[in-house]
Amino acid sequence: MSDCIFCKIAAKKIPSSIVYEDDIAVAFKDLEPQAPVHILIIPKKHIKSLNDTTAADKEIVAHITVDIIPKLAEDYNIAADGFRVVINTGVQGGQTVNHLHFHLIGGRSMQWPPG
Ligand code: 5GP
Ligand code: ZN
Repeated sequence: MSDCIFCKIAAKKIPSSIVYEDDIAVAFKDLEPQAPVHILIIPKKHIKSLNDTTAADKEIVAHITVDIIPKLAEDYNIAADGFRVVINTGVQGGQTVNHLHFHLIGGRSMQWPPG
């Protein structure tokens, strides 16, 4: 999608701190980190939200959650102590960028419930 900021980041049309990339996904540092480690993982395919996935997207979501996130958690030394993965979805879910993204947040203790 030409007007999507995360598609532009994936295409490197706007700069970001990319920390991981493969054929399916890109991971980059959040512009406004909420913890010592705050990485966004996005599919290269424009999927609007977790509410807009189809059966064809199962491998993408599995790849991000099973392969990429644990690897990044290990790389950034937050695997042992624990971390949080957040997928804000839709208006009440607090989603502000309408391209599916997984927040990987760690390096400090998290609170519950979320705000
Ligand atoms: P959401 O609120 O949709 O779950 O998360 C969007 C996230 O994207 C926010 O944490 C925000 O800081 C981050 N973000 C928004 N625009 C940019 C950008 O241009 N570059 C980077 N690296 N992060 C962004
Ligand atoms: Zn997009």
